[in-house]
Amino acid sequence: MFKAVYLEEKGRPARLAELEEGALMPGDVTIRVAFSTLNYKDGLALTARSPVVRAFPMVLGIDLAGTVEASADPRFRPGDAVVLNGAGLGETHFGGLAQRARVPGEPLVRIPAPFGPREAAAIGTAGFTAMLCVLALERHGVAPGAGEILVTGAAGGVGSVAIALLARRGYAVVASTGRTHEADYLRELGASRLVDRADLAAPGRPLGPERWAGVVDTVGSTTLANACAQTRADGAVAACGLAGGMDFPATVAPFILRGVTLYGICSVNVPRPRREEAWARLAQDLVPAALATMTREIALGEALAVAPEILDGRIRGRLVVDVNR
Ligand code: NDP
Repeated sequence: MFKAVYLEEKGRPARLAELEEGALMPGDVTIRVAFSTLNYKDGLALTARSPVVRAFPMVLGIDLAGTVEASADPRFRPGDAVVLNGAGLGETHFGGLAQRARVPGEPLVRIPAPFGPREAAAIGTAGFTAMLCVLALERHGVAPGAGEILVTGAAGGVGSVAIALLARRGYAVVASTGRTHEADYLRELGASRLVDRADLAAPGRPLGPERWAGVVDTVGSTTLANACAQTRADGAVAACGLAGGMDFPATVAPFILRGVTLYGICSVNVPRPRREEAWARLAQDLVPAALATMTREIALGEALAVAPEILDGRIRGRLVVDVNR
């Protein structure tokens, strides 16, 4: 038997349940899970505020980190420390808020040193997505020294990791936040200055002053529209989130008059080589002390109670879930 955050059917509340190992879905690799996380998407699934779960019954949790127990995939051996982000976990395949998991080998990544399962879970989908955003800006040619990079939703999970990654590479990072009382925290992560998120949330002009060489946006809606309107000629915006809304009330002006590029970032179905690249770069660029600063740990049994807090923007940085306590 193993403990799991379980959703029996649509419309029912998720609950902590004891499941038999035989209930696990088919997969190549059986994992003794050590840690999971709560991302914004987990908050949506646990509270059923948005239809994240697409098959029932379901074990929730879009991330897991732990140790391989058995593997039919030759790439993994018992004892390997592994991490899995997205790939349908907690949506169509039993997820990571559980003490056991059985998953396909293809999207599974060996945890790179210096991290162990706890750090890999602390990074989680949020950190993985932040890295994908930074890689998109880099591929576009946005170099350190090119100008300021705006990070919205700065005190959240994706935002916190994005600030730390960009600052470590030498970018000048501007943190947009509604939590100005977290100024010390954001500066410690590497933000050079802060802007009030209200300044970006009000409807703006089709083209604003050219401020940002690049943008990592986790907020969407008017904030994303304004970020595009304020991006410098030939700059790039990596859009990954909707914490402020799913709409995009923008004009084409930044794209056709300034050559701004808008990159959509999706962390769910990322091909294996790109996953490995992102995790290798996280191991290189994310200083463990910065990760520790942004991480709070909770027990599996607390996940349901804490889930609404992330949707209300009350969680600073990252939440790690110890599934064995
Ligand atoms: P968090 O809740 O940790 O962070 C979101 C942050 O957004 C908050 O901390 C807050 O930052 C800001 N925020 C919250 N509500 C509002 C609002 N109404 N208006 C403006 N800003 C707001 O979530 P995550 O970091 O885990 O995820 C961020 C977003 O990215 C989510 O929308 C999530 O769904 C998305 N996401 C997408 C992925 C993908 O694959 N595309 C993967 C991972 C996440 P502050 O207090 O600093 O203002």
